[in-house]
Amino acid sequence: MAPPLAASTPLLHGEFGSYPARGPRFALTLTSQALHIQRLRPKPEARPRGGLVPLAEVSGCCTLRSRSPSDTGAYFCVYTYPQGRRGGRRGGRRRAARTFRADGAATYEENRTEAQRWATALVCLLRGLPLPGNGEITPDLLPRPARLLLLVNPFGGRGLAWQWCKSHVLPMISEAGLSFNLIQTERQNHARELVQGLSLGEWDGIITVSGDGLLYEVLNGLLDRPDWEEAVKTPVGILPCGSGNALAGAVNQRGGFAPCLGLDLLLNCSLLLCRGGSQPLDLLSVTLASGTRCFSFLSVAWGFVSDVDIQSERFRALGSARFTLGTVLGLATLHTYRGRLSYLPASTEPPSPGPSLPRAKSELVLAPAPAPPAAHSPLHRSVSDLPLPLPQPSVASPGSPEPLAILSLNGGGPELAGDWGGAGDAPLSPDPLMPSPPSLPKAAVLSPITEGTPQMPASSGPPHPPGPGTPVAACRWGPPDHLLPPLGSPLPPDWVTLEGDFVLMLAISPSHLGADLVAAPHARFDDGLVHLLWVRSGVSRAMLLRLFLAMENGSHLSLGCPQLGYATARAFRLEPLTPRGVLTVDGEQVEYGPLQAQMHPGLGTLLTGPPGCPSQEP
Ligand code: ADP
Ligand code: MG
Repeated sequence: MAPPLAASTPLLHGEFGSYPARGPRFALTLTSQALHIQRLRPKPEARPRGGLVPLAEVSGCCTLRSRSPSDTGAYFCVYTYPQGRRGGRRGGRRRAARTFRADGAATYEENRTEAQRWATALVCLLRGLPLPGNGEITPDLLPRPARLLLLVNPFGGRGLAWQWCKSHVLPMISEAGLSFNLIQTERQNHARELVQGLSLGEWDGIITVSGDGLLYEVLNGLLDRPDWEEAVKTPVGILPCGSGNALAGAVNQRGGFAPCLGLDLLLNCSLLLCRGGSQPLDLLSVTLASGTRCFSFLSVAWGFVSDVDIQSERFRALGSARFTLGTVLGLATLHTYRGRLSYLPASTEPPSPGPSLPRAKSELVLAPAPAPPAAHSPLHRSVSDLPLPLPQPSVASPGSPEPLAILSLNGGGPELAGDWGGAGDAPLSPDPLMPSPPSLPKAAVLSPITEGTPQMPASSGPPHPPGPGTPVAACRWGPPDHLLPPLGSPLPPDWVTLEGDFVLMLAISPSHLGADLVAAPHARFDDGLVHLLWVRSGVSRAMLLRLFLAMENGSHLSLGCPQLGYATARAFRLEPLTPRGVLTVDGEQVEYGPLQAQMHPGLGTLLTGPPGCPSQEP
């Protein structure tokens, strides 16, 4: 394989016109990190402004042909999401399609070859696919489009999940040439049941469009299958549309983006998803007092953190601000809890689990795969761009018998086979050339969906958290916890035990506890560690507030708070000695009582996109 290219090495360079054909002319240079656009005519730019498109801001591209037969130019269109500016400050991302005309040759065929060469090279760079050294860049370098199953909780966060999915996620996924099938969840545990019955070989990834709660359901559903060992390796991704978007915050940071919330966070995570690429995800096996076992990708909390999480459910309408308000209110009524925290320190060599635990596969999502299956499993309340037999989607408009096929314009479904996956020449459009091709699939595919606006069941409002007595759905399968003796039994001598009065105890796997709360700044998705934080009683309210404010950038550990403790562990046991309290696993309330947990390194696979480089955001 060729050595890695320097970020500034030009891979392609060429002169292009624009659309309409009489517009300016540009010199384009493609490097492994960016597309450089320099205007040549009518007036060369001395200092090119806005001429640098970092690949981190590109969702995809396509090639197009003019409807006018006399136009021998071929068009190369790049979908970009530059950060806007508001009064000199960073603003939200805006979509901008940049269209360039390959017109250096006399015939359309030659110009098309050139446009496809650029589009193919760009997609290869976006997805981390190797470019051949001999310069032969042709569309058949590209694998078939990845197939994603999107699960949308229409009530996630402020109920915006569905709206944002339609207006932002689906268009971007189409631009990236990914195929998808979308299902709206109808109730709690629906996603869990769906993935338990899914024929997993048909999907390259399962993406939840909601908060952390929906991904929790998906991962536990995958682990609650007889074939859990294979099933849990299915790449999962998260597109943040909930009020708790901790994992997305960590994905965003790993992707090299500045911290953000709301729609900005969703667009960043969507851009990363379009790039493909995954990495192993640690999963924590949690055993509750009743013996029920569940798997956590995020956190186990007791005391202040779980109190705030559950009490702030009633401020759901505020989105992520609910946690801020909850924290302030929680400070006013601060409780302390008596308990015991024991853990197996990470520094000790982990005993061998016997036969090696399954490691998650990585970087497989966009690799070539066997031929598409004949049909997908029956799904309902679904929308798809896959031209495969599906039961009549209940959300499709009666007036449009084939409302979805058009998406393959970008999605590159099987009927485009032979052309290159992701960016076939567009079919003829009403305009001589579509200035902004995705607006066509957007309108075509999304209008039918609109009519499927989620119906709120007559009896139900927004989802309610389960009451303290609600049993958590148990996972009957999954890897054995070889580090844990039974809950009632004494712990091995190499464990550390702390006992006393605590304000909070928190066990966290990734870095983020919320989209803007970095509880474990050094944590990685696959470090194999559970990060334990605790605050002992005696802490002042002012100090606790400072700790949470400092968590915004992860600097709380250097505040010198004497009551704050931190350790990394491979397993832990938490024994509440106070009779009443709230325990949460991944933000969902579980039965109160002793619990213990063991980390399973890299058990799952998380779609993260490529790691960010510091130059990504100035
Ligand atoms: P948020 O961050 O807004 O809380 P989550 O993804 O965590 O979003 O979802 C909150 C809860 O809603 C989860 O427990 C999930 O299981 C549940 N849920 C998912 N789909 C539905 C639905 N259609 N109706 C009601 N509850 C749902
Ligand atoms: Mg949640």
